[in-house]
Amino acid sequence: MSPKTVDVQEDLNPFRIAMRQFDTAAEHLKLKDGLREILRRPARAMSLWLPVKMDNGSIKVFQGFRVQHSNARGPCKGGIRYHPNVSFDEVQALASWMTWKCATVDIPFGGAKGGIICDPHKLSKAELERLTRRYAYEISPIIGPARDIPAPDVYTDAQVMAWIMDTYSMMHGHNTPGVVTGKPIFLGGSEGRNEATARGCVFAIRAACEVQGIRFEGATAAVQGFGNAGSIAADLLSKQGMKVVAVSDTQGCILNRKGLDVDAVSAHKKKTGSVGDFKDAEAIPASAVLEVECDVLVPAALENVITLENADRVKAKIVAEAANGPTTPGADEVLFKKGIVVLPDILANAGGVTVSYFEWVQDLQELFWDEEEVNRRLEKVILKAFRDVHATAKKYKVDMRTGAYILAIDRVARATESRGIWP
Ligand code: NAD
Repeated sequence: MSPKTVDVQEDLNPFRIAMRQFDTAAEHLKLKDGLREILRRPARAMSLWLPVKMDNGSIKVFQGFRVQHSNARGPCKGGIRYHPNVSFDEVQALASWMTWKCATVDIPFGGAKGGIICDPHKLSKAELERLTRRYAYEISPIIGPARDIPAPDVYTDAQVMAWIMDTYSMMHGHNTPGVVTGKPIFLGGSEGRNEATARGCVFAIRAACEVQGIRFEGATAAVQGFGNAGSIAADLLSKQGMKVVAVSDTQGCILNRKGLDVDAVSAHKKKTGSVGDFKDAEAIPASAVLEVECDVLVPAALENVITLENADRVKAKIVAEAANGPTTPGADEVLFKKGIVVLPDILANAGGVTVSYFEWVQDLQELFWDEEEVNRRLEKVILKAFRDVHATAKKYKVDMRTGAYILAIDRVARATESRGIWP
């Protein structure tokens, strides 16, 4: 065992992590016991078995979930994930994080999340459509523009949202675009939604660089995950003058200290299905992307990738969590002690839900904005949230994650308390 390897067992259960993050902030707020009990767990959860006719005539039954954490500040809001590792506790954690995220950026939504245990890469498009429509049908009693509004997450996209919107609309006898966000633009989607998570993340990185005295142009970045959030973040960072030195996906991890040509990497991924084997770069082990010498590290894949095991080897000055839950509480402490600024997921990737909110607003008023308008409003929301979180963290002398939680929990607690409990 190398001297830097830490021999500890960390609790990686995402929901227990979410509750621990909540408890830390609730303690600072001295939240009353009753309120604490209400807010630490989701209000409602649905577990489903979804039978699907497969192309070969057989029937397969998939398990799915929809969890609504809180609607104290508005309708529940949160994505739907299709992944073999989806679990009930993961969905519960993601639903809670959505509540805190919407409150951090101060948009009038609560939190929810959905997931189906499946490998969408092994399903045909027709099978995926039948699975999605069955899921939409099953959750239709608890979703709706004023109730709970799903959106894309890992391995779901605008097409999946179009099927959900269509199923819900057919069941209700009229077009209901506001039931989901992240739809195709021609079905009531918003300009700028596809890039919003990454764009919001880059706004937050810019603000953090300013506070940390790091010159954005010429600074270096590494990005883990090259999907919607990661590839677009890499693209925006590089177009705005940062040098993206490393990127990775499930099948490859590449490094070029002089800076990768992100457009060329994207074209390569489109052609081959992975960033691996890109010719103008050196292949490095998958986990090395997190340990690359750089100014900004953007984890944009899945949970629990920065843990007690590797936190000490993170060399970035800023970690911007485009992914949800990439850093464990133990790793958070290590990074904080090392002086690394972590822009927490509930701030750093809130651009997605912010433009989802804009999409919903546009759908409800049936009046659509151009991309410039969307991006301008997004920047305003993220920069205000950054300032609020930074000020709260300073006031309570805590890291940015705890600062964001304190800010968000306070907002949700006040809404919950003033609404009261009924009956
Ligand atoms: P996506 O499906 O578009 O992309 C996921 C990417 O991660 C893929 O490139 C995949 O190859 C890669 N990946 C998966 N496991 C990996 C691993 N172990 N190492 C390296 N790469 C790996 O998903 P997405 O929408 O970009 O979501 C990524 C993260 O961002 C998730 O945590 C999601 O919850 C979060 N997020 C997404 C949005 C959004 O609007 N898309 C909004 C907020 C948060």
